[in-house]
Amino acid sequence: MLVDMHCHLDLYPKPFDVAKECNLRGVYTLSVTTTPKAWGGTKKLEVGNPRIRTALGLHPQLAHDRYGEIEIFDHFLSEARYVGEIGLDGGREYKKHWAVQLKVFRHILNSVDKAGGRIMSIHSIASVSAVINELKGIAGIPILHWFSGSKAELSRAIDQGFWFSVGPAMLNSKKGMEISSLIPSGRVLTESDGPFAKIENTPLMPWDSCMAIKRLALIWGVDEGEAEDMVAQNLKSLTSISL
Ligand code: MN
Repeated sequence: MLVDMHCHLDLYPKPFDVAKECNLRGVYTLSVTTTPKAWGGTKKLEVGNPRIRTALGLHPQLAHDRYGEIEIFDHFLSEARYVGEIGLDGGREYKKHWAVQLKVFRHILNSVDKAGGRIMSIHSIASVSAVINELKGIAGIPILHWFSGSKAELSRAIDQGFWFSVGPAMLNSKKGMEISSLIPSGRVLTESDGPFAKIENTPLMPWDSCMAIKRLALIWGVDEGEAEDMVAQNLKSLTSISL
C-alpha cells in the first residue's frame, strides 16, 4: 500500500478523477488544504474513496491574505482529525509576512492544543527552529513535510518526537537523500506534495510516492516491497496513537 501523506488533491485540474485513481491504486492519501474555506469542498473527495483523509489547513504562504478565515478554521476543527497545511515560511518571498504568519500559526496551535491535539502536516521552509519552538508543549503529532533545514535542526526535531514526510522531489537531491538517511526509519512517511511539486516540469501524482519508496529502499538497504511495507506500517503506528 502506497502512502501520500501530503497532497493538494483539490488543486489538480480534475480532483475527482485523481481521487478515484488513488482509490483504484490503493494509495492512502492525506489531502491537505491551503485555506479553511476549502474544507467543505475538499472533503467531498473522500466520498466513495475510503483511503482518502482530509486535513484542515491555512498555508503560511497565504496567511497574510487569509488570516480572516481563522474563525472558519476554529469552526471546523472539531470535525477534522488531521490539520495541514500549516506552518511558517521564512523564505525570501514570504519573510515580509512573518508577523502575520506567526500570529496565524500560534492561533492554530492554540486551538489544536485545546482540542486535544491533531496529526499535523507542517511546512517549515527557512523556519524549522521557529516551528520547533512554537510546537513545544502543543498536544498532537507534527509531521514535518519536505524538511529542508540543517542537520542540527533535524536532530532537534527528531529529539522532539516529530515525524517526517519525504517525496520524490526532495529525494531527487543529494541533500534530501542525506537528510532522509538521518531520520529514524520508523518515523518516515512518503508524500507527493503534488501538484506543486514537480519532476521534470510534470506535477507529481499521489501514486508517484512509489518513486520515493525506491529511494528509501536504497537508503534503508531493503528491497522496494519491504520499504513500501515499512512506510505502510509507520502509517498504521501513527494513526493508532491516541490523541
Ligand atoms: Mn504543500
